[in-house]
Amino acid sequence: MSDKTIAQVDKRACTGCGLCALKCPRKAIALKPDDEGFLGPVLDAALCIDCGLCLKTCPATDVAETLIYREPRTYFAAIIADEELLLKSSSGGVFGVLAKRYIEELGGYVCGCVYNENMQAVHTVTNKWEEVVRMFGSKYVQSRAAHCFPEITKLLQADKQVLFVGTACQIAALRLYLGDKYEKLLCVEILCHGVPSPVLFEKYVAHLEKKLGGTVLDVQFRNKEKHGWGSEHRTCVVYEKKGRIKKHRPTLPAYFSAFFYGLNLRESCYQCRYAQLARVADLTIGDFWGAYHKYGKFFTEGISVVCINTVGGKQCIDALREQFAFFEELPEAQAVRSNDNFYHSIPRPRERDAFYQKNMRYRGLWKKAYLSKTYRRKTLASIYGAFVPPKIRYALHRIRREK
Ligand SMILES: Cc1cc2nc3c(=O)[nH]c(=O)nc-3n(C[C@H](O)[C@H](O)[C@H](O)COP(=O)(O)OP(=O)(O)OC[C@H]3O[C@@H](n4cnc5c(N)ncnc54)[C@H](O)[C@@H]3O)c2cc1C
Repeated sequence: MSDKTIAQVDKRACTGCGLCALKCPRKAIALKPDDEGFLGPVLDAALCIDCGLCLKTCPATDVAETLIYREPRTYFAAIIADEELLLKSSSGGVFGVLAKRYIEELGGYVCGCVYNENMQAVHTVTNKWEEVVRMFGSKYVQSRAAHCFPEITKLLQADKQVLFVGTACQIAALRLYLGDKYEKLLCVEILCHGVPSPVLFEKYVAHLEKKLGGTVLDVQFRNKEKHGWGSEHRTCVVYEKKGRIKKHRPTLPAYFSAFFYGLNLRESCYQCRYAQLARVADLTIGDFWGAYHKYGKFFTEGISVVCINTVGGKQCIDALREQFAFFEELPEAQAVRSNDNFYHSIPRPRERDAFYQKNMRYRGLWKKAYLSKTYRRKTLASIYGAFVPPKIRYALHRIRREK
């Protein structure tokens, strides 16, 4: 096989963005799940004409470096004013503020991640608020986004405003797909430490359905209703049983713990080229974990950190200041404190190799993970996080840091 094709790309660097399959003029590339359930390109050599387009535009190569914005950055902490939307959001609701502007003020479109009818995380494009509402909240599983790129192109060519929200690797793929810079496109990156496999999530949902005897409608990993905002276990499963909608809050769900501790992430996430201060999106949004240190109080309903990377991003935020109940500029050192993803990708735990095993059932994965040293150590820390009141937790945290 020629060395001009996607087959040359190191599998561990491939983010599964699907750009190669979209770009291939002969449809010689299909995205298929690997043994761990992550999508990746499979090239049909018989159809390939060796044009090299797949490799030239692949974000897993150095072409991605050209996308990184190197202009001076500014940071701020923010909380959306709309309390209802704040409750739906994982962090401080910056996504909600942006999406409202695109739908209600600009008559534009939003592309973000929803669960489809099969509980798969997929990106969708819409100009309807009811659909945007489904995008709220972090879905801790790799989402498919590339199928939206042709529609986004058409909208931009028709001079429509488009907001795209996703992971940095999805934004890199979108920008490489579009090629030209479109002024009416705003790319917003969720600060991401990695994504688990869609097949693992499928197993988790199947496990929940069996256990609950109902149909799972939503898995909210960062539900704030009971314990407020935090990084630990806040999973709330919404399901339907005998015609009634019910909620289940699993105790220490292995799926979430494994995600949180980095046991079940895509290989490329452990060497994410976007986990650095200079970013690929107009705006970067994440949890402001350093808020307690900065303000000396706990934000029970959530607070976001936002990094403005481009002039377009700045203009958008300037137009929206009134939509925030709290808005304060931050020096870089304070903004990125306690959020490692601004500096480096998550370390690959030693037990990652043993985590994914072919044909393993969810329960089996749980046991495997639970016996790992990383998991036991970190689960203990997370039990402590879930049950010790925030004030005490943060006081202890501060003492530990000061030591
Ligand atoms: C897989 C993943 C890992 C993350 N890791 C971190 C982290 O390490 N540190 C940190 O500070 N923040 C992380 N976040 C981001 C954080 O959880 C919030 O999503 C972010 O702060 C935005 O919150 P919000 O309150 O503005 O809006 P929210 O309503 O919570 O944001 C929802 C937005 O996130 C997008 N989204 C949801 N799930 C996905 C997905 N699977 N793929 C792509 N886009 C998705 C939706 O399209 C929507 O636009 C992660 C998010 C995800 C999905």
